[in-house]
Amino acid sequence: MIDLSSFARVRLIHAPTPLEPMERLSSLLGGPRIWIKRDDCTGLSTGGNKARKLEFLLADAVKEGADTIVTAGATQSNHARQTAAAAARLGLECHLLLWNMNRFMDRAYVENGNVLLNRLHGARIHELSGVGATTEIAYLNAEVDRLTKRLRATGRRPYPIPVGASNALGALGYVECALELLSQAKQLGFSIDAIVHKSGSAGTQAGLVAGLRAAGAGTLVTGIGGGKAPANLQDVVLRMAEQAAASIGAPGVVQPGDVTAIDPDPAGYGLLTPPVAEAIQLVARTEGVLLDPVYTGRAMAALIELIRAGRFARHANVVFIHTGGTASLFGYAEAFEPLRAPGTAAAPTD
Ligand SMILES: *Cc1c(COP(=O)(O)O)cnc(C)c1O
Repeated sequence: MIDLSSFARVRLIHAPTPLEPMERLSSLLGGPRIWIKRDDCTGLSTGGNKARKLEFLLADAVKEGADTIVTAGATQSNHARQTAAAAARLGLECHLLLWNMNRFMDRAYVENGNVLLNRLHGARIHELSGVGATTEIAYLNAEVDRLTKRLRATGRRPYPIPVGASNALGALGYVECALELLSQAKQLGFSIDAIVHKSGSAGTQAGLVAGLRAAGAGTLVTGIGGGKAPANLQDVVLRMAEQAAASIGAPGVVQPGDVTAIDPDPAGYGLLTPPVAEAIQLVARTEGVLLDPVYTGRAMAALIELIRAGRFARHANVVFIHTGGTASLFGYAEAFEPLRAPGTAAAPTD
């Protein structure tokens, strides 16, 4: 029995989020049975996966007497926006270090989507140059530490939150999601054969794997890497999952073979490749669900590819976790322009 009640926690999300069948998409693809876990509906400032992790991290910040939150991400970071909203909810000052990694200069990218929401939530924004960056997440986390020290020197009480709210404490948000999934599937009368989702800074996948194994479930979890996920994503997830499992009193339940991270369509961060654009349109048109170019669209494109490669039995139950990102869509308006050309508007039908 996993008990998270000993951890300090602030309430930020609407949970449980729905687990729903994607009937039209499943039948269009000829199986498996695809289910969608609606973590885009966590509720905080258009939702997403970071809010689950922030429930634990911000509670820790409050416990430590913090008056300021510091975090970092790409310009259109969903994590930054959810952190800004959570800080606003708790009456904390929020500093965001944002890095335009790809130097996208589209007006929508630099002003709309998450950037607009950050401003509405009153966050203080610092632009990063990227000078000296080697690996992306390491660079961003080093900048978080630097600003934290600077703010402390001016008398503030800052609490640093790592990129993606990903560490063993933040991962507990996805331990809880794993438990939610197991109980919802049971109620709906099926068992989950596989889970597929976008993985980036590792906390989501680490929490899911730790939660599932601690609950005795052997469910396969496939994280889709790429973007700014580290090249050794699988190792990073494994280490964080082991730490998370130990912290909930289940040390040793996670084995190296429990973590799979793949990147079937390597492309730069936030680049809208044709398979991703197709996946976004397909799901928008068959299910009325919005995916995004950076995360969920890529994960769905990868899931479709796995299905076409025959990786799942026809009647298997596969859960796709919708990790959010809807707000970032509006930052990519220009990237979708080519879809307006004649002949590219139709959804693929096989
Ligand atoms: C951050 C993010 C992810 C990746 O989650 P991690 O916990 O960082 O691995 C996936 N999808 C969306 C929409 C995100 O914002």
